[in-house]
Amino acid sequence: MKLTIFTRLVIGFLIILAMVMAVSVSMLVELGRFNNITRSIMNVDNHLLENEKKMSDALLSQILYEKKYLIIHDDALYDKFLLAKLDFMKALQASIFIAADDEKKKMLTTVHSSFKHYQSLFDEEVDLVRAGKSYPVEEHTQQKEKAVNSILDELKNIKASSQKHTFEQIRQLEGAMADARQTAGLFVAAALLLGVLISLVITRSITKPLSRVITKTRDVSNGILKGDLKVASPPELGDLSKAFNMMCEKLNALEHMKSDFYALMSHELRTPLTSIREGTSLLLEGAGGQTNASQTKLLRIIAEESNRLINLVNSLMDLSKMEAGMMTFDFSHQDITPLIKKAAIEIAPLAAAKHIIIETAPAENLPYVKMDSEKIMQALRNLIGNAVKFTSEGGRIRITASNGNSAVKVAVADTGPGIPSENLAMIFEKFHQAQYHRQHNIKGTGLGLAIAKQIVTAHGGTIWAESVIGQGSSFIFSLPV
Ligand code: ADP
Repeated sequence: MKLTIFTRLVIGFLIILAMVMAVSVSMLVELGRFNNITRSIMNVDNHLLENEKKMSDALLSQILYEKKYLIIHDDALYDKFLLAKLDFMKALQASIFIAADDEKKKMLTTVHSSFKHYQSLFDEEVDLVRAGKSYPVEEHTQQKEKAVNSILDELKNIKASSQKHTFEQIRQLEGAMADARQTAGLFVAAALLLGVLISLVITRSITKPLSRVITKTRDVSNGILKGDLKVASPPELGDLSKAFNMMCEKLNALEHMKSDFYALMSHELRTPLTSIREGTSLLLEGAGGQTNASQTKLLRIIAEESNRLINLVNSLMDLSKMEAGMMTFDFSHQDITPLIKKAAIEIAPLAAAKHIIIETAPAENLPYVKMDSEKIMQALRNLIGNAVKFTSEGGRIRITASNGNSAVKVAVADTGPGIPSENLAMIFEKFHQAQYHRQHNIKGTGLGLAIAKQIVTAHGGTIWAESVIGQGSSFIFSLPV
């Protein structure tokens, strides 16, 4: 999926937004359903019940006025009867208007016809009374009662039906609410789950290639310059990986240029320097005739300095070869103890000149290590040489070797000035010298430890220094067995 990080994030947000909207719409639909049910309860059933009450009250008033009128024949009572009739009709009409179902409409029609019958019976009676005619009162009364009873019965039925309908609606509402709660819960849970899933997928699709870039960047900082980072998507990281690979290529080219430069310079320097050294020693031996004391002194200085320069050039040559991976190693399984002893013997005259005691204490029965003895000897020379160089007169150097953790550990400890802790790591980089030694103008190239590190690393081992200022330093390296 070659989507950019921006598109991925936008798609993720849009999906989550769509889910939130879906949940909201479903909630709105449910709310609409509740609204319809409550409106039906409030507008239909409630009003029907109110009107039923009004009709019952109006009818009872009419019966009262009718009865009184028949006793005292007062027209004002008849007027009141007519007013109550109006009230009844108003309530009846309103009920017919709002009644939603056929059953209630039918009931109300029955009420209407019975009411009309009752009215006509009484109007007829009023006419007879006003004309002073006699009529069968008993029979009239019975007919009116029958009509009234029919109205009241029907009104009772309407009331019962409305109440029943209200209960049903409330039950329906409760059901709808429970349904809505369940649906909302399901929707929210699904939306949350989907949201988390989408976020995870999108985040992972960005962080996974990113972590490959981070690992490769770490490799570069550790000196591994392989430009083989393959990230195709997201496109932004694809571009970054292409730029990264290009950077590795350029760094590799630079690294090679640098090594080539060292090699060339070393060769160009070594040849004339060797001629100078050889010429100087011939002059010192008298090949050019007898030299006086000051000439001899000058020639000795030239010989010493040209020797130093040759050593520096050799070291540079070795280091550049090792850094370019062009140094060949001749590995074989060997005991390191004889090497330690040999290195100590070699340096003994120099140490003796400074009255420094060199002690070797390798552990018994050390396991054999896979090593190139020439190169390890060179590393030992550099470490012990430094110890002699930095330890003052009358000091002590102790070289130990011990077995531990699938490796043989060799330590060169001295009683020299020590190294500040902030310098302990960087002295292994080429041309780095501790502040103290620069200040005290102790001669050196700054290459000895870098070479020792390259050699030990090529053996699969590690090298480090420990030191206490004023008490001395220990240079330790371990070689896998
Ligand atoms: P140099 O030619 O300067 O000795 P090295 O790479 O051998 O170059 O050492 C780097 C620096 O490490 C030295 O300049 C010195 O500051 C410090 N150093 C190395 N060995 C010792 C030691 N035995 N005691 C104190 N400082 C040391």
